[in-house]
Amino acid sequence: MLSLEEAKSRILAALPQMPVEEIELEFSLGRFAASTLVTQIDLPPFDNSAMDGYAVRSDDLKNASSQHDVALRLAGKIGAGEGASRVEPGSCIRIFTGSCLPVGADAVVMQEDTKTEGEKIIFSEVARPFKNVRVKGEDVRKGSVILDKGLKINATRRGLLAACGISLVPVIERPRVGLVATGNELRELGEILRESEIYESNRTLLSGFLNEIASVRIFPLVRDDLGMTRKSLEHAFSLCDVIISTGGVSVGELDFIKEAFEAIGGVIDLWKIAVRPGKPFVFGRWKEKFLFGLPGNPVSALVTFLMLVRPALLKMSGAAHIELPTMEGELVDEMVNDGNRRHFMRVRWEAGKVYRAGPQASHMIGSLGEANGLLDVAPEARLERGKKVKVQLWALPDE
Ligand code: AMP
Ligand code: MG
Repeated sequence: MLSLEEAKSRILAALPQMPVEEIELEFSLGRFAASTLVTQIDLPPFDNSAMDGYAVRSDDLKNASSQHDVALRLAGKIGAGEGASRVEPGSCIRIFTGSCLPVGADAVVMQEDTKTEGEKIIFSEVARPFKNVRVKGEDVRKGSVILDKGLKINATRRGLLAACGISLVPVIERPRVGLVATGNELRELGEILRESEIYESNRTLLSGFLNEIASVRIFPLVRDDLGMTRKSLEHAFSLCDVIISTGGVSVGELDFIKEAFEAIGGVIDLWKIAVRPGKPFVFGRWKEKFLFGLPGNPVSALVTFLMLVRPALLKMSGAAHIELPTMEGELVDEMVNDGNRRHFMRVRWEAGKVYRAGPQASHMIGSLGEANGLLDVAPEARLERGKKVKVQLWALPDE
């Protein structure tokens, strides 16, 4: 059986990156930059005031002190968005936060530190050069990198791009991913369960992760029948770049994913990996498209998705970082793997502590409300309480 690492490197090597497209900044949230972005403008683009106050020549105030007031003539006003004017020696100009600094001025004195006497403004302190002045380019220099290739355009990065005037961004196209669930026992939400049936939940579970990475299409339920499975895969491949199926990849005579995939011309690259849960995982290629056949048990589907499919799709989407973030923590509960395959156990990481999230059988999903990460426990390992471990997180604890 393949190790997780072998399976992963084979999958990553097989998957191409999606093409580049240029899209409006407005629609770029969550997408990955296809190239390193450089600003064509300085931030701020011009010298401006950091305060509401008076633009002055610092030299005019060099003798000002609490014992010695200096009066300057008020020569005008510059509102934010208005063009710069000029400040002559012996005068000052009323200025506001974000207003363009007038030519000749090199400092701004806060309104609160001045007094007004008719047409004169009284100052009783020196003004150091550049005091309360935001200098052109001091924040972001024209020509500097504002987003590295492969980084996600999140809310703050998108705000920075907007500030730099970037309205079109090159990103990697999102893969179109189809979700297919197989099983005679599965029912759609809203239907009434008969005895021996369960609500289908894998497509919902996985689409919650996928929506961030891909454009997702959910296909109708597939019965455990070779013909129907074939038709469903064919249909899904006609609309998607990648299919993620769940169920029907084991060795039972009602498991049809592999057979149906091969029947439509798919080539299986790997099947079965040495992890728990999630052993019966299949990966294959159909023309230039790909199948990830996940086991049906929801936790097995989750673990194989997070460990193998998510990084693969992130690679296709042009992401520089494809792994789940990890957090270190101290075990509060002992974790025991008495099996001979490494076990990805559901845990909750919170404030540096790691708790076991309920029973660990692969069909038991009650713990999914509590768990926010996976702990990789080696075969036949016993991790004692208090041990420092690394958890791969899929959510933050306070979410
Ligand atoms: P299978 O991999 O098809 O043998 O299914 C393994 C277990 O997972 C069975 O108990 C199924 O009922 C369950 N299962 C399969 N698919 C789903 C699904 N889409 N949603 C919830 N449970 C499922
Ligand atoms: Mg099944």
